[in-house]
Amino acid sequence: MEKQGILIVVSGFSGSGKGTLMKALLQKYPQNYALSISATTRAPREGEQDGREYFFKTKEEFEKMIAKNELIEYAKYVENYYGTPREYVEKKLSEGMDVILEIEIQGALKVKKAFPDTLLLFVTPPTAVELKSRLVGRGTETMDVIESRLSRACEEAQGMDSYDYLIVNDDLDACVEEMHSIIQGEHHRSFRNRKFMEKIKEDLENLKGED
Ligand code: ADP
Ligand code: 5GP
Repeated sequence: MEKQGILIVVSGFSGSGKGTLMKALLQKYPQNYALSISATTRAPREGEQDGREYFFKTKEEFEKMIAKNELIEYAKYVENYYGTPREYVEKKLSEGMDVILEIEIQGALKVKKAFPDTLLLFVTPPTAVELKSRLVGRGTETMDVIESRLSRACEEAQGMDSYDYLIVNDDLDACVEEMHSIIQGEHHRSFRNRKFMEKIKEDLENLKGED
């Protein structure tokens, strides 16, 4: 029976550790997961490479991608556009890989609407104070941008209960295992195994007819 890939959305407050978590999950289970690389108009951070963390675009280039329907979803987040290129996601899902989109909440809800079988995971640090200290500790944003991201976190917190699972990123390794087992468990949901159920029903009927 061919394996069906699951479309997985991972959201969480900026600084909750989603990026770190995704890197660790993919490193540990490279055969299971494909991580979609988004397009964005934000400037690369120190150490980020075009085509690795993001496809870095100008506003004009990004708007062209929207017009050509090349994005599954897109959203504006703190003054910049972010969007998910369609082609890679569709290709990997059709190959049976679980595809992870690490995107913010507006995009997550758009994906869920377009693809209702999407699994929605929300990552949070153990406390609000820890969130601020991770954002400050990362050292990649000015205090102004950190404040905007914290105020965006207050808005995003209102939407947490639209997600299927809440994942607390306290100990990183434990969190990687938790996420992996949630996803593996999800493969066993009956609605994701309709083809298998149809086949065994049919085979049972045929077997019965043989006597
Ligand atoms: P996000 O992608 O959600 O914005 P990052 O992955 O960039 O967050 O993580 C924010 C900061 O927190 C980074 O400096 C990262 O090293 C740190 N971090 C991530 N996960 C943990 C964890 N479980 N415990 C402590 N620090 C963490
Ligand atoms: P950052 O600038 O920290 O890399 O990302 C800012 C926010 O944008 C994060 O919440 C991240 O999950 C989200 N994001 C990244 N790519 C996409 C995307 O393709 N679509 C949407 N809607 N959000 C994204």
